[in-house]
Amino acid sequence: MKKLTNTMDIRVSNAISILQMLRHHPSKTKSKIALDTGLSFSSSSNIASILVDKGLLKIDENSLSTGGRKAACLSFNGDFAYAVVLDLHDNRTGYLGLVNMSNEIKKIVSFEIKSSDTLEDIQSKISEANDDLMKGVTIPIIGVCCAIAAVFLANSNIVLSCSNPVFEGVNIVSIVRDLFNHEFVVIENDANLSILAHSFDDDSASKISIFLTQGVGMGIMINNQLYTGKDGIAGELGHMKVRGESRTCKCGHQGCLRLFIPLESIAYDLGEIKYLEEGLSNMDYASQLAKRYLDGESPVIERVDLAKQKLGETLALLLDIFNPSEFIICGNMSNLFKIIEPGVKEICRDYSKLAKTFDAKITFDTTVPNKIMLIGGSERLFNQWLYDGFERYISD
Ligand SMILES: [Zn+2]
Repeated sequence: MKKLTNTMDIRVSNAISILQMLRHHPSKTKSKIALDTGLSFSSSSNIASILVDKGLLKIDENSLSTGGRKAACLSFNGDFAYAVVLDLHDNRTGYLGLVNMSNEIKKIVSFEIKSSDTLEDIQSKISEANDDLMKGVTIPIIGVCCAIAAVFLANSNIVLSCSNPVFEGVNIVSIVRDLFNHEFVVIENDANLSILAHSFDDDSASKISIFLTQGVGMGIMINNQLYTGKDGIAGELGHMKVRGESRTCKCGHQGCLRLFIPLESIAYDLGEIKYLEEGLSNMDYASQLAKRYLDGESPVIERVDLAKQKLGETLALLLDIFNPSEFIICGNMSNLFKIIEPGVKEICRDYSKLAKTFDAKITFDTTVPNKIMLIGGSERLFNQWLYDGFERYISD
């Protein structure tokens, strides 16, 4: 948090309070803004006028046109700038999106990533996609957020332990700055973005997201703050040991959670991983599995039920540790969610000591993962900008 050392800082801090109050919420009159922020009418009105001048707030047309005496309402203007979100969480497809500051997706461009692609190959694909994305765009770009399925060390800008090895050991910040010719770059773990995409409109959220992709990621939101831990690596759930015997994980051990829940692990155990490797999409494979499950194919039923069982047990453990108000399950196997969803809550209740008394809501979100990344990325970038770029923006 900024220290309130001088008048400018106080004004900036008050302006941020007003923006956060209006962003993702209905419009308010200037008197209501003063009341809800606890500021005097004149200082809140002054700051609101500056924010209108700078294009961050807008005066609601409807409140003006309804005639003479009604006080004008102010709302957040999400289109004052766009975020570019580069989604590299998936090993086979990259996405580049334009998202406005209200987290509305305006445009998406995708590009194929091959397992043989070098870092240079991927850089040129991103560059080409960006040319396509920016065609005809005149709204200012606030910055670039890059979603990555990796441990990212923010103090050294280095990527560790990434699902795509070409990014490991790379200074991703300088690469993204060069590619987009933009100084303001934020790199974030994909699971962290998944929880940001699901909690921005809830002011007191304590929620956990489980982002199922090649691995099992966890996003942790405590009292509306993203929790990332001392080194930024919190939420690595995939290597938690849930069973003694299995094939060996890439970490060298057996029994890791990522060998039981994700779609790839199911494909592997059913002897069908080749279909995914040959190009069948995750979404299509998950659909096929759902159908085969409903058709009564025993090996599929047994294996999908095992994934469901392990998911329920994991939620039970997390409920006891975090006591969240909600779990959000999302990711690339959403076409199987209708099969998995019934029963997970019961498994969670059976395994948790406390779930019967302190239930958590369990939501299965079938939004495609790349859209979750774009929304979470825009949210992450805007919040960082409030602390890094906003003061300069309104002081100019
Ligand atoms: Zn492991």
